[in-house]
Amino acid sequence: MSAQNVLNIIKEKGIEWVDFRFVDLSGRAHHISLPASEVEEETFVNGVAFDGSSIPGFKGIEESDMVMLPDTETVYVDPFTAHPTVVIMCNIYTPDGERYDRDPRSIAQKAEEYLQTAGVGTTAYFAPESEFFIFDEVRYESGQNSSSYFVDSEEAHWNSNRKEEGGNLGFKVKHKGGYVPVGPTDTQQDIRSEMCRLLMEAGLRIERHHHEVATAGQGEINFRFDTLTKTADNLMKYKYIVQNTANSYGKVATFMPKPLFGDNGSGMHVHQSIFNGSEPLFYEKGGYGNLSEMAMNYIGGILYHAPALIALTNPSTNSFKRLVPGYEAPVNLAFSKGNRSAAVRIPVAAVTPKGCRIEFRTPDSTANPYLAFAAMLMAGLDGIKKKLDPRALGYGPLDKNIYEMSDEEKGEIRSVPGTLDEALSALEADYEFLTEGGVFTKDFIDNYIGLKRDEAKAVAIRIHPHEYSLYFDL
Ligand code: GLN
Ligand code: MG
Ligand code: MG
Ligand code: MG
Repeated sequence: MSAQNVLNIIKEKGIEWVDFRFVDLSGRAHHISLPASEVEEETFVNGVAFDGSSIPGFKGIEESDMVMLPDTETVYVDPFTAHPTVVIMCNIYTPDGERYDRDPRSIAQKAEEYLQTAGVGTTAYFAPESEFFIFDEVRYESGQNSSSYFVDSEEAHWNSNRKEEGGNLGFKVKHKGGYVPVGPTDTQQDIRSEMCRLLMEAGLRIERHHHEVATAGQGEINFRFDTLTKTADNLMKYKYIVQNTANSYGKVATFMPKPLFGDNGSGMHVHQSIFNGSEPLFYEKGGYGNLSEMAMNYIGGILYHAPALIALTNPSTNSFKRLVPGYEAPVNLAFSKGNRSAAVRIPVAAVTPKGCRIEFRTPDSTANPYLAFAAMLMAGLDGIKKKLDPRALGYGPLDKNIYEMSDEEKGEIRSVPGTLDEALSALEADYEFLTEGGVFTKDFIDNYIGLKRDEAKAVAIRIHPHEYSLYFDL
C-alpha cells in the first residue's frame, strides 16, 4: 500500500488521529499520535521523531534522537479509541537514516533477508498459539487489591467462586479441567468472540477460539500463519486487542506465563515451516512424521541452540515457573510426533504437505515476537546449514510421555534451562548463530543480556511470599 492509499483511507473513514507505534526490546508497544491533518506524504518519508533515551535499552541521553518510519502495510483502525484513529507500525532509524540495530522489527526483517541469501527457500511461515488468562479486575471486595492475582490455583478456584462461598460449585471449571467445556461452565464465550470480531475487523484471519485447560478463565485464539515480520505484527495487534477488549469488559487479560501456582500456565507454541515459492520444503512422505531431512535439520538447530534461544523465547523470570513437569509445558529438550511433553512436536493429525510443520512448544508470550521468531529461524537455518540431525544428537524421537519416564529411561535427555539467568549464560556462550549475516549484532546481544540480568536480579533481591511460610516462624 502506498502512502497515498493510507491518506485516502484517512479521508474516506473520517480518521482524526494517526497513531505511530514501535516496539521496545521487551516487546512493549509505544505510540505517538499525530492529528490526521498533520500527516502528509512527506511524513511517510521523514518519519516521526521521538526520544530514544526514555526507552529502556535504547540510546543513551547523549544521542537520544530517533525516528519512527511507518510501514504502510500495517495500517488498521483502532477499535478502542473514541476519536477515529488508525494505527501504523514503524521501524526505528537513527537521525542519519540508518536502520537502528536495536530495533526488534528491523531484526525480524533482517532475518527474512538472511533467509533469501541462505539458499534454503524463499519464505518462512510462523503461527503462534498465544494463550492468556482473563481475570476479574477486582477479585476481592474492598480492602484488598490486585496483588491477590499472585495466589495459588486452589485459592484462585475458591476466590472465583466467592459469591457462593462454601456452597454451589456446579458448572465451575474444575482444577485443570478447563479444556473446551460448553457454557455455562465456559463463561468467556462472548468475550472471546468479541475479541475475534475486533481482530477480524483489524485484518486478522481467525481460525478458532476456545477455553484452555486451567481453572480460572484461560483462553486461546488462533489466527492464520503468515511470514515472519507479518506474524510478529499480527501478534502485537492480537495482544493489544485481547487486552483492550478485556479492559472494556471490566476485566484484565494477562499473557504472563505462570500467574497461578499449581495450574497450567500460558504458552505460545510456535508452528514453523519453510517454503520455496509455493513448494513446501518440510514435507516428505514416509519420513518420521512425514518430515523432510531439511525439517529434521531445522529441528536439530532449534534443539541444539535451545538453551540460548530460550533467553529470547522465554525471557522473563516467570517463564521458568511454567517450564516445570505436569502442566503440558515442555521440560525436556526432545522432539516427537504428537507428544505434548516434548519441546518440539510434529503435528500429524489432518496435516497436508502444505500444512506440514514443526511446533516449538517452549516459547511464551512474554517473548518479543520479532526477536523470538528471528532467533528461531536463525537456529533452524544453522541446523540446516550444519546438517544437525536431532536423532544423532540424542534429542529423540521420544514418543512416550516424558513426564512418566523413569530417570534411567530418560537417559541423556537434556532439560530446558531452569532459570532466566541460566538461559542468559547459555546465550552468552552460544550467540554466533544469531549474528550470521549481521541479523543480530554482538552489541544487541550484550545489551539485551545486561537488561535481562537486571530484571532477574530485581526479582531475586525481593522477599518472596513463600519465604514467610518457610521461615517466618523458625
Ligand atoms: N498451556 C500449555 C502450555 O503451557 C499448553 C496447553 C495446550 O495447548 N495443550 O504450553
Ligand atoms: Mg492450541
Ligand atoms: Mg493451547
Ligand atoms: Mg500447540
